[in-house]
Amino acid sequence: MSVYVPVKLQRQIRKQFCDRCAYCQTSEALMAITFEFEHITPQSIGGLTRLENLCLACPPCNRYKSNRQSAIDTEAGEMIRFFHPQRDRWSDHFQWNDNFTELIPRTSIGKITIVILRMNRPQLVNAREMWVDVGRHPPE
Ligand SMILES: [Zn+2]
Repeated sequence: MSVYVPVKLQRQIRKQFCDRCAYCQTSEALMAITFEFEHITPQSIGGLTRLENLCLACPPCNRYKSNRQSAIDTEAGEMIRFFHPQRDRWSDHFQWNDNFTELIPRTSIGKITIVILRMNRPQLVNAREMWVDVGRHPPE
């Protein structure tokens, strides 16, 4: 669901996340789609349209996350929260593999977020390979 986010707030969010998806780090400039302003705590459970609850997200990450904030890690058998783009530091939870095409989790939070948001979806891994070849990936 999309909700009106004031233009000034949109600019702040874009600047904060450097026009990249806060989850998979894809640059909006490399995609033929417009990124979205995602409510980290979903509106359906009271998440507000405020900077501390918003991030920039590519449409697939936003769709896969949906209105969730956590999921069951089937290996550990426990509920694990997702990465929180405003409270957590990305590099504490994720790292690139050697050729920068896939994300590797550093934590259980990183792991569940990669799985549920499908941050290593095949189409994206293929695209990352091409972006590496032309010097547009990984992001600085
Ligand atoms: Zn994404």
